Amino acid sequence: MEKTKTTTEQEIDLDPQDWNTIRELGHQIIEDMVDYLKDLDDQPVWKGVPADVKENLKQAMPQGPSDPNAVYQEFKKNIFPYPKGNIHPRFFGWVEGNGTALGALSELLASVMNPNVGIGEHSAMYVERQVLDWCKQLLGYPSDSSGILLSGASMANITALLVARNTASDAIKAGGVDATDGKLTAYCSSETHNCIVKAMEVIGLGHNQLREIPVDERYQMKTDALKEQIIRDQQEGYTPFCIIGNAGTVNTGAIDPMDELLTIAREFDLWFHVDGAFGALAKMVPAYEDKLRSLEQADSIAFDLHKWMYMPYEVGCVLVRNAEIHRAAFTTEADYLTAHDRGLAAGPETFSHFGMELSRGFKALKVWMSLKEHGIEKYRKLITQNITQASYLGSLVKENPNLELMAGIPMNIVCYRFNPGQLDGFNLNRLNKELLMRLHESGVAAPTYTFLEGQYVIRVSITNHRTKQKDLIKLIETSVAIGEDVLGEAFLSEEE
Ligand SMILES: *Cc1c(COP(=O)(O)O)cnc(C)c1O
Repeated sequence: MEKTKTTTEQEIDLDPQDWNTIRELGHQIIEDMVDYLKDLDDQPVWKGVPADVKENLKQAMPQGPSDPNAVYQEFKKNIFPYPKGNIHPRFFGWVEGNGTALGALSELLASVMNPNVGIGEHSAMYVERQVLDWCKQLLGYPSDSSGILLSGASMANITALLVARNTASDAIKAGGVDATDGKLTAYCSSETHNCIVKAMEVIGLGHNQLREIPVDERYQMKTDALKEQIIRDQQEGYTPFCIIGNAGTVNTGAIDPMDELLTIAREFDLWFHVDGAFGALAKMVPAYEDKLRSLEQADSIAFDLHKWMYMPYEVGCVLVRNAEIHRAAFTTEADYLTAHDRGLAAGPETFSHFGMELSRGFKALKVWMSLKEHGIEKYRKLITQNITQASYLGSLVKENPNLELMAGIPMNIVCYRFNPGQLDGFNLNRLNKELLMRLHESGVAAPTYTFLEGQYVIRVSITNHRTKQKDLIKLIETSVAIGEDVLGEAFLSEEE
């Protein structure tokens, strides 16, 4: 029998052939990164991805190697120039953050160390614990609560709702939801983010058992209606288990009446969860502290660090008041995960006791480095600045006879439309949609949109550390100019 030959020369790895080449490429990448970030203002917020670039991104699987420099050149040509735009000072779409220069470098360092932050005795485990402690302090949450960093608020909300669901019956972990007597129902306002709907589906309860309670004219949950619905459900054999409050709705930034939600949750012995994806962070601002005080009593909170803390994607956080209950929801015994007394397999409690993931990246490093670099006071000032900018933008809208403010401005979101009068609702919707698309194509500014009571509105969400007043003035001037152009083009239609 012939022996398989493995000589040292035949063994391969993925390290650079020449470390100096990668060192030089690394220097060049940092140079390009700095140039890219320092002159953002001169760049368009967004430009479309050209057809040939899209074509180029449909290549066959590379079979052989390429020079790293060539790979980087292709990145620079086809990927780097067509960003989403959310790092730009005039990006106001959805609710998105911007990242920072040191944040980007911290991602590089996290990848260099590349620890799997699930288990073990190594520095990253302690960095994440440190960061979680800071998150608790930030929201005034108890220090003995538990938490975990996740990819974002969607995952944080699912994680929290799963923990809440499991408190409804001890039988769920073994038997699933079929093992519970009643049908479990959760309660939120009709303005709640759709990740809560998805969470209800994913945790096996189904969205029919999510009761969407109507809101008042400020888009806050009507608590009378909430109570009535809970009582009706109890009478009909359902088992209410959770109330979800919004600290900042995605449409308008509305904050539900948190104190009342907490009181009702306690009265009916329900879990009180807060989706504070961006708005929970406003708790740092004195003017919002009272409105958000009840977060300190919530059973769980989901929020993002990649939105209103301006950190690079992805990083969100869930905190659970009762660590024991949190742990119980995710712990299963596994021989290969038992902690040792010493050595690498010792270390803090595995993060897999607090969420679904086992292998996890070093998300905590960018949070740790960013908070160290700027200090919490700077974040407090920036969030305050964004809130002030939103009300300033509201005043620009109100001053302009061709613009209409479409909702109150409880926090950092402004909804307006171009409305020169005399147009019906159908044509106003068409006109404003066209206006928004042209605004994006102009590269000047990038708000997005929503519908409020069937009316298409341009929606400006300011979670942007780079935005200045002059950017808002430019947004308004350009909106009006484009609105007038569209109006002058016989664009309007008789048909509905
Ligand atoms: C963005 C957002 C979410 C989802 O968070 P991701 O980080 O995108 O997963 C949930 N709720 C609200 C209110 C949001 O604004």
